[in-house]
Amino acid sequence: MWTRRRAQNGGDPFAHEREGMVDRQIAARGVRDPRVLDAMRATPRHRFVPERAREFAYDDRPLEIGHSQTISQPYIVAFMTELLEPGPDDHVLEIGTGSGYQTAVLAHLVKRVTTIERVAPLAEAARNRLADLGYCNVAVHAGDGTRGRPEDAPYDGILVTAAGPRVPDSLRAQLADGGRLVCPVGPRETQRLVKVTRHGDRFDELASIGCVFVPLLGEEGWHA
Ligand code: SAM
Repeated sequence: MWTRRRAQNGGDPFAHEREGMVDRQIAARGVRDPRVLDAMRATPRHRFVPERAREFAYDDRPLEIGHSQTISQPYIVAFMTELLEPGPDDHVLEIGTGSGYQTAVLAHLVKRVTTIERVAPLAEAARNRLADLGYCNVAVHAGDGTRGRPEDAPYDGILVTAAGPRVPDSLRAQLADGGRLVCPVGPRETQRLVKVTRHGDRFDELASIGCVFVPLLGEEGWHA
């Protein structure tokens, strides 16, 4: 069975599991954007989890990636990506690189991704992993992402993959006119995804589904 799948799927032993993940966990729960579904099909999630967790890479849950951090549940990655409305010419800023998986999904959809990770060894591992996999439209930086990265602003999209007490003001300020920001906001135990859309000096906010994320630690997040 293993050998036959390998041969059928051009050497990717997880292609079948990944198809199942997209159909049963993501499309069946209402994510419809065909570009997002294709990006989820194209991104080899098993390459972003530790070797010992590979067999669980396509399970319907987050997984530990070391340094007390996680790679998010596939459905949440797809849902947040759809909510961001990524366009092919967009420059997106991601806060919380973690394994680099969400970065890779975004890299399939937009022109350029800038991503910031607070834990330096995770940033370095993600940078190497993304380069090994051939993602060339991605820049990984180590540091406190709550301040954003003003030197590369404005951004058409900003995706925050850790939960803060509020949307950081620095990130709002770095959104382009018409830009979208998606961030989990709320108390440490449980949060809600918030989408902010900028129209000139006006910022429209929409609360979306409930979620549970690791804390956004930093100057405009929680204090460690
Ligand atoms: N997007 C990641 C992936 O696909 O693997 C998962 C991210 S994990 C849920 C949240 C990440 O946010 C952690 O790696 C954590 O270290 C990082 N983080 C927390 N506070 C941060 C900050 N102020 N700046 C940058 N990264 C931060």
